[in-house]
Amino acid sequence: MTATLYIIATPIGNLEDMTYRAVRILGEVDLVAAEDTRHSLKLMTHFGISKPLTSYFDHNQQIKGERILNALRQGKSVALISDAGTPCISDPGYQLVRDAVSEGISVVPLPGSCAAVTALSASGMPTDAFTFAGFPPSRQGKRRTFLSSLSNLPGTLVMYEAPHRLLDTLNDIRDLLGERVVVVARELTKIFEEFIRGTVSEVISSVSQTPVRGEVVLLVAPGEVSAAEAEPLEKVLLRLMEDESLSIKDMAKIAAVESGVSRSEAYAEALRLKNSAEPP
Ligand code: SAM
Repeated sequence: MTATLYIIATPIGNLEDMTYRAVRILGEVDLVAAEDTRHSLKLMTHFGISKPLTSYFDHNQQIKGERILNALRQGKSVALISDAGTPCISDPGYQLVRDAVSEGISVVPLPGSCAAVTALSASGMPTDAFTFAGFPPSRQGKRRTFLSSLSNLPGTLVMYEAPHRLLDTLNDIRDLLGERVVVVARELTKIFEEFIRGTVSEVISSVSQTPVRGEVVLLVAPGEVSAAEAEPLEKVLLRLMEDESLSIKDMAKIAAVESGVSRSEAYAEALRLKNSAEPP
């Protein structure tokens, strides 16, 4: 193994989600850089891995980053892990990766758990486009500015949130983004895994009655397409009709979303266009 920085995802709760490859590479590298060495020592001990560990967290990134880069410059292999999930995703690592890349050091990612993607995959919300926005700011003023800036994005919004701030954030979402569908994905892959789904008002009411504990991903469904943004229904349908594999029902489903009309309206229009296109 030579001068390679491995970015290794680790489980977000369930240790069975550790990959074979992660165990093998952690056992082969010269050095493991971990967000919290005590926490990671437990993980490594569980998998029978014994390797030199060094800490790499938010407040020592500059000094430790330089030392890790020095090890890499000397031809050593280093694995970066965080407390849970994928390093660099709302976790330290980005600066180290950026510096390694700029020095031409090989950076190899080992995929695995990530709370955002895990939550999205079971949310039942659109997955074709989504925005991961990390943690909303904890101060209300900044949080409201942050949420407003996300209000018109297409696709599902995925955020991390602390359980004690969840209710405030949900209230701000209702104020600024309107009555959207939301999902609170809690304690993913753990014993008390739970998905709280509903309109933002329904979820506010549920969370007010039973405060949420543990780790949380908050997902917000895309808003209705505004009339100004929507592509006209006829134009969308004519485009879709060029794809002969699509049924009228499929076309109606897609066109309804793209032009912000109901599925029945899109279906009726698709039928009309199809009939008028067919020779008598
Ligand atoms: N890098 C990590 C990843 O790939 O998911 C995220 C690290 S971030 C510091 C930690 C946040 O991720 C938590 O506060 C929570 O919002 C979310 N999270 C982590 N594990 C989770 C889990 N098991 N269930 C729900 N959310 C989780």
